[in-house]
Amino acid sequence: MTLSYDIPKVNFSRLADPVSEIIYLPDTSSRLQSQVSLADFTSFRVGGLAEWYGEPNSLEELRSILAWAGVSGLPIHFLGAGSNLLVSDRGISGLVISTRHLKTTNFDPETGRVQAGAGVSLPKLAWQAAKRGWRGLEWAVGIPGTVGGAVVMNAGAHKSCTADILFDTQIVTLGGDLAILTPDQLGYSYRTSLLQKQPKLVTQATFQLEPGYSKTEVMTTTAEHRAQRQATQPYHLPSCGSVFRNPSAYSAAWLIEQTGLKGYRIGDAEVAQRHANFILNCGRAKAGDIWRLIHHIQEQVESKWRVKLVPEVKILGDFSQL
Ligand SMILES: Cc1cc2nc3c(=O)[nH]c(=O)nc-3n(C[C@H](O)[C@H](O)[C@H](O)COP(=O)(O)OP(=O)(O)OC[C@H]3O[C@@H](n4cnc5c(N)ncnc54)[C@H](O)[C@@H]3O)c2cc1C
Repeated sequence: MTLSYDIPKVNFSRLADPVSEIIYLPDTSSRLQSQVSLADFTSFRVGGLAEWYGEPNSLEELRSILAWAGVSGLPIHFLGAGSNLLVSDRGISGLVISTRHLKTTNFDPETGRVQAGAGVSLPKLAWQAAKRGWRGLEWAVGIPGTVGGAVVMNAGAHKSCTADILFDTQIVTLGGDLAILTPDQLGYSYRTSLLQKQPKLVTQATFQLEPGYSKTEVMTTTAEHRAQRQATQPYHLPSCGSVFRNPSAYSAAWLIEQTGLKGYRIGDAEVAQRHANFILNCGRAKAGDIWRLIHHIQEQVESKWRVKLVPEVKILGDFSQL
């Protein structure tokens, strides 16, 4: 596809002196904005500016944004609810595409499948299913991400995960091509999928649920899962949930706790007392504080247990010289 409109040249060094500008792409109502703070869009509430930021309302808008980025040669990053992202204080070069407006849902009682847009909130979808008496999403109620993020991360809890219920997913390649992928094409394992290595935008997902159960029963299980999480995990301060993947033999939380790191703090970033695999932003933490705390935990745990903890949180942007 040939695009003839002008591409504004933005120097990444301008992040130090943010002056936001907005451009409108032709033939759609797509709007792109420069120098947008990502701290507002991540659950850690930290991070610098996106060089360019767009929130498509439709597939058509998404494709026009991707075409614009392709012509301008900008790197592309995808953003769901930002509940598993640590964004550098120096921001991100290139274009961040948020799925927050891709929010359609359709429950099909014939097949027991629900089709949901990438930007649909996972907890909201879990409640919608429970209120219909459909089983299958009760485990997801405490995961504050989107449907797209869940498909990419293979989000899971309470011994269930996204791969267990995914029927198929619609993706768009960076070149704008659409495809439907089934779980066997996604290389799923613990909190991993091929989509983490081969960036494609998940635009929607279809989950196979089990209709016909008592609404009260499914809602009770869903509420129990939520209560259990709120009792054992710190939801009162900004975090990204579990920072590290669980190594096979021990849980990351146990290793961190046994290393005596609960309550350890760098700046306003603290290892949570209630759950040692959580890092909390206790006020004005910078992404750099969190990044340095992640490395401190890795070093301490490795020197005591000879286990190298691997972050589950996705780290975006430049953290060098910290
Ligand atoms: C309090 C708390 C509790 C949590 N508990 C759990 C838990 O129990 N289990 C669990 O698995 N996780 C948990 N998490 C982590 C997080 O919620 C999940 O990883 C979630 O799936 C991330 O979804 P998201 O929409 O926020 O993705 P983001 O954080 O926005 O993005 C995560 C990654 O997915 C990519 N991505 C996002 N959307 C798309 C898309 N549509 N297409 C392509 N790529 C995309 C991003 O580029 C990034 O690489 C928790 C987080 C918090 C803050």
